[in-house]
Amino acid sequence: MTVPADTTATTDTVTRTGKHPVAPLWVAMYHSVGDCSDDPYRITVSPDRLDRQLSWLHRRGLRGVSVADLLAARARGEGRGLVGLTFDDGYADFADNALPVLRRWGFGATVFVLPGRLGGTNEWDPLGPRKPLLTADGIRRLADTEGLEIASHGLTHVDLTRADDALLGAEVGGSRVLLSELTGREVLGLCYPYGTVDQRVADTVRAAGYGYACAIDPGPLTGTFALPRVHIGENDTSWRLLLKYRLNRLRRRSAPLADPAEEAR
Ligand SMILES: [Zn+2]
Repeated sequence: MTVPADTTATTDTVTRTGKHPVAPLWVAMYHSVGDCSDDPYRITVSPDRLDRQLSWLHRRGLRGVSVADLLAARARGEGRGLVGLTFDDGYADFADNALPVLRRWGFGATVFVLPGRLGGTNEWDPLGPRKPLLTADGIRRLADTEGLEIASHGLTHVDLTRADDALLGAEVGGSRVLLSELTGREVLGLCYPYGTVDQRVADTVRAAGYGYACAIDPGPLTGTFALPRVHIGENDTSWRLLLKYRLNRLRRRSAPLADPAEEAR
C-alpha cells in the first residue's frame, strides 16, 4: 500500500457545513476492566494499564469523552483533541475499576449496556470467566454521573445481522425504550454486538430514533450509524498506542458525521 506522507491532512473530515476541518475520528473500544489473568477473548484491561493508557492520551493533549459529546463537538467544529472512550457490555466492574481511573484524568466515556440482562452475566461468551453485568441501580447511578453516557448494546447481545425483523426491532427499539425509562434520559447511541452491521440493521437503528451507532470496522458502511472503533487491550503500551493512533489517522476517511442529538430528532 502506498500512502502519501500528507494523507492525514487530506482525510481529515469536515462537518456538515464543510467549513471546519477536524481530526480523523478516534474512538477507543474497551470492555471489562479488572483482573485479566483468565481472558480468552482479550476483553479485559487491568485498572493499572487503563490508567497508563489514559495518561498517555493526556500527555498527548487528548481528552477522552463520550461518543455523544465527541460527535456533538465535531458537529460544532470543535472535536480536535477529543477521543471517544467506549466500554461495551456494561460490566459491573466499570463502576468499581474504570470510573475511578476516568475521574482521575477528568475523562468521560460511553457505556453500552444490555437492558435485557440487568444484573446478569456475559452468558453469550461460552469460554472464560463469568463476569457480572450492571444492575438497574448501577446503570442509573452511572447515568447520573457527569461526563458518562449510557447507551444501548441491544437487549441481550445477539448478532443483529442474523436476527429476523421482529427480533431486530425488539433488540434495537426495545432496548432504547427500556433504557430511556431506566435512566430518565434520551438514549442517543447503540453499539452493534460483535461489531456486526449491515445496511438493514443500520437503517433499523436510525429509524428507531438513535442519533449514532458504533461498529468496529464497518468498511463501506462507515458513517454516523457505523462508527469505526479501535480495540485497546492489556498489551497496548505507549508505543503500540502510538502505532494504533497513527494507523487510525491513515485509515479513517469517514463521511461527515452529524450531531447525534440532531439526528435523533
Ligand atoms: Zn459486546
